Amino acid sequence: MRTNAVTTETIFSKIIRKELPSDMLYQDELVTAFRDINPALPTHILIVPNEPIPSCNDVQPAHEAAMGRMHTVARKLAEEAGITDGGYRLIINCGEHGRQEVPHLHMHLLGGEDVGPMLIRKQSV
Ligand code: 5GP
Repeated sequence: MRTNAVTTETIFSKIIRKELPSDMLYQDELVTAFRDINPALPTHILIVPNEPIPSCNDVQPAHEAAMGRMHTVARKLAEEAGITDGGYRLIINCGEHGRQEVPHLHMHLLGGEDVGPMLIRKQSV
């Protein structure tokens, strides 16, 4: 999923610009956060850079402010969701092996109950 500066507009860009509806929880000049349309857990929020960076493979030093902001916004939204004490998981999928579906880098904030093991190991063949 390496795209070398060729940015592809996705549904997330339209959500960021409010051209498509979403349950938006936060927006500033760097990042936007909205609820996942198909939540896997009671709290399932997507935190995305406003700039359409396709994946982790495309992150550059110029993106460090947005990457850092994603983490501070995740902490703030976790507090607002009341899941700080119980704990939560932050996930960024990248590319085909990472099972990334939407090619606009995004962090999943997942919690509200035990999220389960980090990875289900493949059965050895
Ligand atoms: P990925 O597999 O790329 O890491 O995760 C993409 C996530 O985006 C999925 O959890 C999926 O449910 C969510 N998603 C896909 N389309 C939409 C949409 O139109 N609106 C919202 N709010 N979430 C979406």
